[in-house]
Amino acid sequence: MKGLMMDYQLLIKGIMNHAMRTFSDQEVVTRLVEGGIHRYTYGDSYKRMCQLANALKKMGVKQGDRVGVMGWNTHRQLELYYAISCMGAVCHTINPRLGPENAEYVINHAGDSVMFYDTTFLPLIEALAPKLKTVKKYCVLTDKANNPTSKVKSLVYEDLIAGESEDYNWPDFDENTACAMCYTSGTTGKPKGVLYSHRSTVIQAMVTSLPTSFGAELSDVILPVVPMFHVNAWNVPYSALMGGIKLVFPGPGLDGASLYELMESEKVTYALGVPTVWLNLLNYVNDNNLSFSSMKYSLIGGSALPEKIIRGFDKLGVRCRQGWGMTEMSPTGTTNFEPVGFYDLPIDERIPYQLKQGKALPFVDMRIMSDDGKVVPNDGETSGNLQVRGPSVLSGYYNHSENILTRDGWFDTGDVATIDETGMLLITDRAKDVIKSGGEWISTIDIENAALSHPDVAQAAVIGMPHPKWDERPLLIVQLNEGAAPDLAEILQSVKDQLPKISWPDDIQVVDEIPLGATGKVLKTKLREVFKDYVLPDLRANGGPSTSASASVEGEAKGKSGGLPFLKRKGR
Ligand code: AMP
Repeated sequence: MKGLMMDYQLLIKGIMNHAMRTFSDQEVVTRLVEGGIHRYTYGDSYKRMCQLANALKKMGVKQGDRVGVMGWNTHRQLELYYAISCMGAVCHTINPRLGPENAEYVINHAGDSVMFYDTTFLPLIEALAPKLKTVKKYCVLTDKANNPTSKVKSLVYEDLIAGESEDYNWPDFDENTACAMCYTSGTTGKPKGVLYSHRSTVIQAMVTSLPTSFGAELSDVILPVVPMFHVNAWNVPYSALMGGIKLVFPGPGLDGASLYELMESEKVTYALGVPTVWLNLLNYVNDNNLSFSSMKYSLIGGSALPEKIIRGFDKLGVRCRQGWGMTEMSPTGTTNFEPVGFYDLPIDERIPYQLKQGKALPFVDMRIMSDDGKVVPNDGETSGNLQVRGPSVLSGYYNHSENILTRDGWFDTGDVATIDETGMLLITDRAKDVIKSGGEWISTIDIENAALSHPDVAQAAVIGMPHPKWDERPLLIVQLNEGAAPDLAEILQSVKDQLPKISWPDDIQVVDEIPLGATGKVLKTKLREVFKDYVLPDLRANGGPSTSASASVEGEAKGKSGGLPFLKRKGR
């Protein structure tokens, strides 16, 4: 028997309408790309969304058309998110850090008809424009006064919307209509397009609004540092408006000083981002003996949350919650909410819990599959391939014919994990990063976490190096804090002190900068390339160079690292 409820579609305009009728006085604050701070209300924003939709319509944008956006987190991108999707077109956010080749590929693959971009990205747009086959119009996200001279003929955003009507007749359509798209960062092969629907986005916005999910409240001031060009800034532009929460956009100011200044001046209470951003911010705050006056919570995901960040924030009175997910999941799959009374516990008892990725959101199913295709028990010990399904998980990539789901309809995340009896997820690695040593699997995340807890280590990455007896052994690569002159053997020892013997790195190497990919994750593919000729110390004993850690760094510095500026090894 069918229920007798209205056939009311879950559309993003429902979020927009709710925000405007209920919270029209709420503020949206932006650090502008042009410099200075912009401030307006949800109500003002809505009027400009209508103006923008009218302008897009005049430009010939139709339902289903892809509209490209390459921009920082700003009020203008918020307007683009809503106007494009709610008029029935698809907001294609482009990650400028993908590199010119991938950017060209994704814009052509998506078939974007219009391209909006921030002035910062003008050089990239100028280089790309001759190769973009489908883009008919460009629009720079600024006003006349700040419009740079350009080789690419571009409309100016503020002129484009000025004078348009502040009303728009937003259409109704099927909730499964595409609203936005985002390409995966593509560390291997070409980036692949994930095409979100209104339904999947509304469901994500609703579940991430739960107290046991992101848990932001009306009294919060929320700062999404996670970029709007990467999985819709974890849907915060939708969930914040649904909850009527004050939004603060950091624009291009993602360094420690700019973030700190904005957090303090706008009294931010809740910020979201990837670990690398928080490591930089914590360094800045500590180096300058600062403290937070309003910050209470930080939601951290995108890669494993290191203990160093939990402790660093804790000292400053800020609580951390970890989330796990991926572009293909809209993106959040789990959040590690705290049980009642959790913060009454001493920090050492809290840390092991906070290092885990958390429990599944409503409508996210998870299972662990062994390599031979059997579902393994949720016992917190048996690790395997993490598979998921749910209404916000993709069913296929855009314009890719290949079937990506298992025969029974699950998506393999490519992560290796355990789930315990309570449903708690622990990611041990990406399947391609896990180190197989003597038949055992070693978690690179555990070793990286141990290394990061050393005060001199700014960034850490572990890769598996070939070994004739063990198959692979871990090599620890670190980037040191500015001005640090540490004893590498002592860092290595401190890592060993925290880990079982099988996980002890065989060696430590120092690089000037650990390479980060387009979404702030460590680029292990790059590190593997650079260290491809590296030989582990116990193998060098058979006729190879010195085995001492610091000596091996010296030796390497003279030899093979030239030509890769971000990896010029330090001769210490
Ligand atoms: P992306 O699609 O770029 O967001 O990357 C998704 C991948 O990032 C996941 O499959 C994980 O490998 C990794 N990831 C995201 N969040 C976490 C987390 N909290 N802990 C460990 N890995 C994570």
